[in-house]
Amino acid sequence: MKRLINASVEIKLTAICALAIFIAFIGEFSGLIGHETAIIFYLVAYLSGGFYGFTETLKDLKNYEINIDFLMISAAIGAAFIGQWLEGSILLFLFSLSGALEGFALDKSKKAIHSLMELRPNRALLQLPDGREETVPVEQLQIGHHVVVKPGEYIPIDGNVIEGFTDVDQSAITGESVPVAKEAGSQVFAATLNQQGAITIKVTRRSEDTTLAKIIRLVEEAQRNKARTQRFLDRFEPVYAISIVAFVLVLIFIPLLYFGQEFDSVFYRAMTVLVVASPCALIISTPASIISAIANGARNGILFKGGAHIEQTAYIRTIAFDKTGTLTKGEHLVTDIVPVNHPCAAANDLDQITEESLLSIAAGCEKTSEHHLAVALLKKAHENGVEPITALNMQAVPGKGVYAEWNNRKVAVGNLRLFDGIAKNWPASLADTAKKLQTEGKTVIYIVVDDQPAGVIALADQLRPAAQKTIDELRKLGVEKIVMLTGDNEQVARNIADQLKLDEVYAELLPNQKLEIIERLKSGGQVAMVGDGVNDAPALAASDLGIAMGAAGTDVALETSDIVLMADDLTKLPYLLKLSRKSKKIVWQNITFSLAVIIMLLAGVFIIDLPLTAGVIGHEGSTLLVVLNGLRLLKSGGGGL
Ligand code: ADP
Ligand code: MG
Repeated sequence: MKRLINASVEIKLTAICALAIFIAFIGEFSGLIGHETAIIFYLVAYLSGGFYGFTETLKDLKNYEINIDFLMISAAIGAAFIGQWLEGSILLFLFSLSGALEGFALDKSKKAIHSLMELRPNRALLQLPDGREETVPVEQLQIGHHVVVKPGEYIPIDGNVIEGFTDVDQSAITGESVPVAKEAGSQVFAATLNQQGAITIKVTRRSEDTTLAKIIRLVEEAQRNKARTQRFLDRFEPVYAISIVAFVLVLIFIPLLYFGQEFDSVFYRAMTVLVVASPCALIISTPASIISAIANGARNGILFKGGAHIEQTAYIRTIAFDKTGTLTKGEHLVTDIVPVNHPCAAANDLDQITEESLLSIAAGCEKTSEHHLAVALLKKAHENGVEPITALNMQAVPGKGVYAEWNNRKVAVGNLRLFDGIAKNWPASLADTAKKLQTEGKTVIYIVVDDQPAGVIALADQLRPAAQKTIDELRKLGVEKIVMLTGDNEQVARNIADQLKLDEVYAELLPNQKLEIIERLKSGGQVAMVGDGVNDAPALAASDLGIAMGAAGTDVALETSDIVLMADDLTKLPYLLKLSRKSKKIVWQNITFSLAVIIMLLAGVFIIDLPLTAGVIGHEGSTLLVVLNGLRLLKSGGGGL
């Protein structure tokens, strides 16, 4: 197939080819040079115009394969064979020109993402332990170094803010247009723009491991990873090429042997067929579009892990959402702390369970957990000035909660599933309290010491402001079924599902039960799962299309999903659907158009004796048109997206 590298060398060879054709043709036409001399110039044209095609052909022939370049080179040699040097060299000229232009066009979409790299400064202002500042190349920064970023400068490296306040424009990484406020503890990314405040950051990743570097690597891999249509076309290319050769041989020998037609005209027609039947446009139609779509996505904070996922998105009929952190913000606030009288009262540290001690136990157990609820509990303890207990051997049970040890006691924090079998012995009043809180849409967790309840804590989360709008838009786009999967309580889940008018809701699921539901949903067509990557990995993997949200900076989500939405922005989902449908449309436009041109040109050869040059122009012209049509996908926003 068309070589995508060295477009600039190829364009020079193409220019030499054009010049040689010009000299040969004008020279011979005006009588300035003789026919033999003209042929020398045509040979120069052949060598320069056919150089790349010829080397590609040799490479494939060594593997006993033939490709489109082989067809083109054969047609040109055939033309020379019957003295049609001019037409043969025009063929090679246009072939090489369109090859070079395609190379440029595809490079353009490949580089569209690489330009992000240029946003990242090459140097950083390193703050030395003695307080002095020194400018160093970013490659020299080590994890733990302190770097100063002045207002208006691009941030040179990934890190955490340790001093200062500012707003950062993160659109290059997350596609979000609104700047994000940063303070001590916030994460910042290389290549994002620091707006008004000076900040000092502590480096968390080396320059080759930054989120930016990872995005660029993933996008480049994705562009190599082919879409299904393209894989089909790639398999089809050699078969098609051989069929054309066979057809052309028939076109030469049958008329000669059985109809006694004149060799030159038979051969000329066969060469024209060879050119117009070649599927150059067909083969390039898909990559030209898919590569552009991947670049478009990356600039809008949508990372495709492969070309195949763009096609797949267009076929999605069911979307399953995780609740916490996906449809909701995942920023819980502790709303109620309800201690109960612990029965093992006698003379120990627990006879008076207070709001404070309850929070202290809960926060202590959650200290090492990364769960949204854990974060909220620790924050609340900090705000209230409550010191978390020093728990030991903390163990998280996904979808249930955590266990720990404290002063030789067994402590546990989680939902009822963590207490299967023992909860039935608890006082009924506790269940009533929990029920009441849950009907208010709050998530309730139990704090249990030595199998006896010490109290419950209720936490409330908020719907993302964009959730309703996103769901409505997805429905308008024709998504048939929208469901929610959650590990949270039935009542809380219902509350949210009713607000959003979802089709189905599945609650109280463990991570592997989410996977089972996904498998079941698949019987109704292609299923996408949208999760925040905290513990949705099995479901993301089981779905036809795993979409991880808000993943800038979290490695697990980047790895387990097929598509990554860099920002916590649900509105990227309808955009994703529109982009992939538009890509699918353009791919099929290209395929249909390429086939139609081949059929028309072939008909032209047999019906009106289409000249070789016209065939060449039609063939190469259609190839360029499909590439340009594919490039339309680079444009964000416009074009009906
Ligand atoms: P979702 O499916 O909504 O994202 P998860 O599967 O992460 O929720 O958790 C489901 C439920 O499991 C939570 O609502 C909570 O009751 C319980 N749980 C999970 N992890 C923890 C934890 N670290 N502390 C307390 N409860 C937890
Ligand atoms: Mg979750």
